[in-house]
Amino acid sequence: MSDSVFSGFPLDPRLMQALEKAAYEEPTPVQAAAIPVGLTGKDLLVGAETGSGKTAAFVLPMLHRLLQKSAESGRVDNSGTRALVLVPTRELAIQVVKQCDLFASCSHIKTGLIIGGNSFKYQQAMFRKNPEVIVATPGRMAEHIGHGSTDLQDIEVLVLDEADRMLDLGLGADVIKIANNCKKPRQTMLFSATLTHKAFSAITQDILVDPEIIKLNTVREQHSNIVQQIILADDRDHKDRLLDGLFAEQTFEKALIFCNTRAQATRLCGLLRYRSSGTEKLRTGLLHGDMGQDERKDTVNKLRGGNINVVVATDVAARGLDIKGIDIVINYDMPRNGTDYTHRIGRTGRAGEEGLAVSLISAFEWNLMSSIERYLRVRFDQRKIKGLEAKYKGPKKVKASGKAAGTKKKKSKDGDDKGKGRHRDKKNIGKRRVASKKSSSDDGRSKEGRSPLKKKIKPQAPLNDDEG
Ligand code: AMP
Repeated sequence: MSDSVFSGFPLDPRLMQALEKAAYEEPTPVQAAAIPVGLTGKDLLVGAETGSGKTAAFVLPMLHRLLQKSAESGRVDNSGTRALVLVPTRELAIQVVKQCDLFASCSHIKTGLIIGGNSFKYQQAMFRKNPEVIVATPGRMAEHIGHGSTDLQDIEVLVLDEADRMLDLGLGADVIKIANNCKKPRQTMLFSATLTHKAFSAITQDILVDPEIIKLNTVREQHSNIVQQIILADDRDHKDRLLDGLFAEQTFEKALIFCNTRAQATRLCGLLRYRSSGTEKLRTGLLHGDMGQDERKDTVNKLRGGNINVVVATDVAARGLDIKGIDIVINYDMPRNGTDYTHRIGRTGRAGEEGLAVSLISAFEWNLMSSIERYLRVRFDQRKIKGLEAKYKGPKKVKASGKAAGTKKKKSKDGDDKGKGRHRDKKNIGKRRVASKKSSSDDGRSKEGRSPLKKKIKPQAPLNDDEG
């Protein structure tokens, strides 16, 4: 480790030893920027994307502090937990505990895991053992505070990891409640894929004190090591066949397929069990928020160990899942925004490896795809699978934004809608069914082009598939 770039940081020798064990040679950009500031004890606000190495960027300064300073309460031997890491999902919590254990492996420091789905009583017993570090999801942690399982009065370091996602999942109030229970003053480090979340200021003003802001690799920046492609699709059956075609022509070690709903993921997982990639049968697993924690862990472990090579997942798996060898991510359904897209594709191309992301785009997903392109300032390559080309060729006309042209109703001179509504009101009363059956979209696309958009998106399962 002596010639490692990490040796430039004044880290505790036990951490240097652990870094050597982990074979980390060079800090990633977020580590290079955040570790020195973290070591000063200042509050930190860091914009860093998933897969950037952000976990070590907060775990190393946090552990260093615990190793260097005895508990500030003076209760050296029986101080409570001194560091708390809040994360949005159970999977991410498990990953963070692993990294804490890895870096603490040459010291006495222990880490406890507090997540929904695990035994409450067992967790209460764990609190009594006072592990130096706790990694928790906010919902369950707030429950423990309510039950008086722990007091957080010895927390010197509070970390909010993937804070934007916690806000998206509606966990902001729990996060603030927990932070208000932690001791003051303390060091708070907040990591987020984006620093422009609309609800951010409430959290940052309440929780951070004069933070040093580090903005790296924001969510908009490209994953330059990930090839991003789209394949046009006609409908669900066509998407199913495209998957077959893709698996037949694409060599891969492990694949992750994302769907927007649990029902879709379950259906697809069942279907793929009987399919193959080239000559080999696919070995598939399922991952969604309605599964028990043990089942979810089982799927992740099987994928990690290579017992299965394809996992069909909802967005619950998009965060935190850190598995080597996922060389392809497929969006069977296009995610509903650019941030989710980035998190999904971030499961491949981990730590700078090459990755491939393929999104299947039907007509009603075109505009969504194009707004994600604009948001990320990328242009996806269009890929075709021989013999399985879609009848849908994209919109006939596109606007400068890339969206399909002519999808908005025209207004008449007097400002009234000239759409079907007016005709229905005046002339076509009682003929609704006929009118809607005949309708084709304004841009000349087939019925699939537009009308299913409203019908399909609305009844789909909740936007967020998690979390407890
Ligand atoms: P993270 O963004 O923290 O989830 O990290 C993504 C992956 O990169 C994990 O598998 C880490 O173990 C790995 N990683 C993080 N930092 C380094 C580093 N400095 N050298 C090698 N691998 C790293």
